[in-house]
Amino acid sequence: MAKKQFKTESKRMLDLMINSIYTNKEIFLRELISNASDAIDKLYFKSLTDQSVQMNRDDFKIDVSIDKANRLLKVCDNGIGMTEEELDKNLGTIAKSGSLQFTNENETDEHDVDIIGQFGVGFYAAFMVADRVEVVSRAYGSDKAFKWQSTGADGYTVTEAEKDTVGTEITLHIKESTEEADYDRFLDTYTISSLIKKYSDYIRFPIRMDMERSRLKEGSDSEYETYTENVTVNSMIPLWKKNKKDITKEEYEKFYQETFSAYDKPLRVIHQKAEGTTSYQALLFIPEKADYNYYSKNFEKGLALYSSGVKIMDKCADLLPDCFSFVKGVVDSEDLSLNISREMLQQDRQLKVIAHALEKKIKKELEEMLEKERETYERFWKAFGLQLKFALYSSFGAERDKLQDLLLFTRASDSKLCTLKEYRDAMPESQKYIYYAAGESAQKLALLPQAETVRDKGYDILYLTDDVDEFLMQILHAYDEKEFRSISSDDLGLESDEEKKEITEKAEANKDLFAAMQKALDGKVSEVVLSSKLKSHPVCLSSKGAFTIEMEKVIDAMPNVQQNAPKAQRVLEINGSHPVFNSLTAAFAAGDTKKVENYAKLLYDQALLIEGLSVEDPVAFSNAICELMQ
Ligand code: ADP
Repeated sequence: MAKKQFKTESKRMLDLMINSIYTNKEIFLRELISNASDAIDKLYFKSLTDQSVQMNRDDFKIDVSIDKANRLLKVCDNGIGMTEEELDKNLGTIAKSGSLQFTNENETDEHDVDIIGQFGVGFYAAFMVADRVEVVSRAYGSDKAFKWQSTGADGYTVTEAEKDTVGTEITLHIKESTEEADYDRFLDTYTISSLIKKYSDYIRFPIRMDMERSRLKEGSDSEYETYTENVTVNSMIPLWKKNKKDITKEEYEKFYQETFSAYDKPLRVIHQKAEGTTSYQALLFIPEKADYNYYSKNFEKGLALYSSGVKIMDKCADLLPDCFSFVKGVVDSEDLSLNISREMLQQDRQLKVIAHALEKKIKKELEEMLEKERETYERFWKAFGLQLKFALYSSFGAERDKLQDLLLFTRASDSKLCTLKEYRDAMPESQKYIYYAAGESAQKLALLPQAETVRDKGYDILYLTDDVDEFLMQILHAYDEKEFRSISSDDLGLESDEEKKEITEKAEANKDLFAAMQKALDGKVSEVVLSSKLKSHPVCLSSKGAFTIEMEKVIDAMPNVQQNAPKAQRVLEINGSHPVFNSLTAAFAAGDTKKVENYAKLLYDQALLIEGLSVEDPVAFSNAICELMQ
């Protein structure tokens, strides 16, 4: 029988397992048991809708057995099993290929630990403790069984085998102990049974093992004898069915990490029992960290859905709105029909009622966290704030009432995160708008010349550093009747009537100069104006209308931008109190057109640089500066 090769990524994952220095090798057992339980779930679910599966709930079990002399550990289930093709496909390729991207970047030991902990490694975890693994499986509906076996990275074989019953039997040939690692413990009944209790207690099917017990010998009151008893090791009660007060924080965390192969600890646990027209139990977790693929299209949102303790779906997407897609958890309801198909589930009224109630609950919990546990909320925000913003933006503001008070932005005054309400509440009476500056980083935004005047007035500025931010502001338009205004827009509404009058007069007096400058800039700006927002800087760039320069940058950075992508209408603002302005007016009065032209170009290029844009002709820019320096 020719050996088949693992797919490249699987091989790499396998190498990682075999050579792993990961100390927590024992998790292999929870991975195998979880697979067994999934396989049983599948067959049990089938049995409820398909008469030909003649199995009852009580018939399902997972058997774990040890053969110390031959160094074997077996995990057997009577679940759905695998066909020859499935053995090849499922065990020859790793499903979680995304996790491998991380090994490419960095293959330090620390990373190794991270991957194993963070992604859960599934079946291949067996190779952390075994130097040979055999999987004999017979799929439901087939009368043939097949055996998959492998000694590691050099490949695997699949051959025909004998198996009387449907299900899967996995045999691990446990490695010999070395000085560094003790593998013998995985052949010890008590160690294995306590690992089952530790990691797989909530598995809803019995995990059975032969345990050695001792008892008084018959007829004796002092002599003991040992005997073997086949016992169920796990308690089988799903955590969400238990009473809140009987569950410790550690138990919740353990459940979260095991069920979702998570590495972090949940920031918040939401355990809800609802009774009424629709009854359900929900155990939800707000993670601390986003999954590695959370912000990619590969991410699948959803909650595990059970009907009276039977798993119907691993990830029911309809239970979670997009804005809260980061939530992980389980929902169990007696009111859902088991016979329901996945397509029909979407239409199910009960499911909609549950989804709606969960959404309200999650929102309430987040609000409470924001109010009472600010530091935790800020950690949440760092991981998932972007998702809230995306959701709000893509709903075109329809979710405004639900989400706007959950938003946080960095404010200029103390570089801390604040809510829109906090900003609004701190606004002085005289302040007309909620000011924001959009750009790459808070550090850069703090340097914008326009910021100076706004801050001098005693007004705070929100720093927007995510691409979506400014688009979001435009959709929200206002908060509590105060409009959002970019500090780079042409009208900041800062001047008093008097100042306005002064500026208008000065602008009027110099209108020919500005016209000449605009001409020199040859269509690059739609206007050259006298600025009301500059203090120490001679020049800045602003935009007219709703589409700003920052938004233009974001659009330009997108892949496949169209030729006719929208452009901001640029306005060059000149500081009338700056010495440079005096030189300009003097040159203009003296009829030195060349100088006015050169200055206009130089000032425009400077404004571009300040905005974080590139100068169109760097050589001309440099030459112009050299000329000035001579
Ligand atoms: P995951 O369980 O996350 O999909 P694994 O590497 O653990 O990844 O398993 C790969 C696949 O192999 C599973 O998705 C399942 O289809 C199949 N499989 C593993 N163990 C069993 C089993 N005991 N019975 C049936 N199928 C199994």
